[in-house]
Amino acid sequence: MSEKDFIIVGQGLVGSILALTLEKFNKSFIVVDCVNETSSSKVSAGILNPISFKRCINSWKANVLNPFSISFYKETNVKLQSNDFISLDVVRIFSSYEEQNIWHSKTGDNRYNLFLSSDFDLPKSNIVFPYGGGKVNSCGRLIVKDFLSSCFNYLNKKKAIIRVNSIQKAIPKINGNYCVQNYKAKHIIYCEGLDMLNNPIFNYLPIIPNKGELLKIKCAELPNVLLSKGIFVLPNNSKNNFTIGATYDHKDKSKFPTRSAKIELLKKFNKIGDFNIKIIDQTVGFRPTTVDRRPLVGEHPILKKSYVINGMGSKGVMMAPWLVNNLIRHIIFNEALEKEASIKRHEKKLKKENIDFASQLCVN
Ligand SMILES: Cc1cc2nc3c(=O)[nH]c(=O)nc-3n(C[C@H](O)[C@H](O)[C@H](O)COP(=O)(O)OP(=O)(O)OC[C@H]3O[C@@H](n4cnc5c(N)ncnc54)[C@H](O)[C@@H]3O)c2cc1C
Repeated sequence: MSEKDFIIVGQGLVGSILALTLEKFNKSFIVVDCVNETSSSKVSAGILNPISFKRCINSWKANVLNPFSISFYKETNVKLQSNDFISLDVVRIFSSYEEQNIWHSKTGDNRYNLFLSSDFDLPKSNIVFPYGGGKVNSCGRLIVKDFLSSCFNYLNKKKAIIRVNSIQKAIPKINGNYCVQNYKAKHIIYCEGLDMLNNPIFNYLPIIPNKGELLKIKCAELPNVLLSKGIFVLPNNSKNNFTIGATYDHKDKSKFPTRSAKIELLKKFNKIGDFNIKIIDQTVGFRPTTVDRRPLVGEHPILKKSYVINGMGSKGVMMAPWLVNNLIRHIIFNEALEKEASIKRHEKKLKKENIDFASQLCVN
């Protein structure tokens, strides 16, 4: 058996970032992943945006998470010799005078003006600005699907990843080591996204699938910037290709695109201006969200050295690099875990079957 410091379960956005970060800490690892073409990461729009537009405030810990994630992805572009992360500004088109007033008052407030700006510059286009607009600085886009491929190729060359045909269930702990195929490690970290719901060790954690739909369109009249007004309009890699999104629905569990989502997205898009478009595709994915909108990070209460990192919701791109770093430093240096993200807050939800299952996994 080959001995590693860590086993990582799942190579979505979080598992990939975890692998790259462990490497920085000179820790050895093996990633085990079951390919899922419709995983949250594969469908993701990949926007890194520090602002919560609903209330025009910084999103959770944005002052810390935003600069950390941007420097992580810039460094990763160099390491992977890729261009999967692109820095972008978001142009916000105001929907009312009220929004305009709130925005302008926030640009004079030191708590928000790191990200919010009243000035923006747009090439001439059909976009309508009845109430004006503003700019969010320090945003970006990770082309998540490409990032996962770049990471896979990088890890594969180092023989640090194995692909399996179905999700790995019940990884046993034998004489203090977790064992997968020919590998053993003292620590295991589950980065399973929504598949965590099928994991009998961690499925007591309250994760809620939230369906999101996106439209891929072709349009020659849109500027090559990221626009926001109720939805995002996101320029894609190829010329005149854009993504419009996204919808949010925690009730519909079907994997199929819906007519209602298409209508909703087009209705919002038409409020941005009058454009000739051709719809190329409609995609569907599920975000791993939590009720209190905080991620889920920490060690299993019974099964020691077994960890989870999940619940990234719709902000995975900005949150994951810092949270992963926080978890690794907690494991290696015993530094404190971010309290609001810690799974300790859900310990009371642990069921008898979770405890029984965890105990069965330990051999000797
Ligand atoms: C429509 C849509 C738009 C989005 N847009 C944005 C956005 O603009 N910005 C943003 O930040 N976020 C966005 N998100 C959310 C973001 O994509 C997710 O938060 C993030 O991708 C979650 O990544 P993950 O690694 O936790 O999970 P996943 O992407 O689900 O990855 C988990 C991986 O682990 C594998 N796996 C799971 N269990 C096992 C097992 N037991 N054994 C082996 N393999 C296993 C799975 O097959 C998969 O490959 C969006 C999501 C959707 C659906």
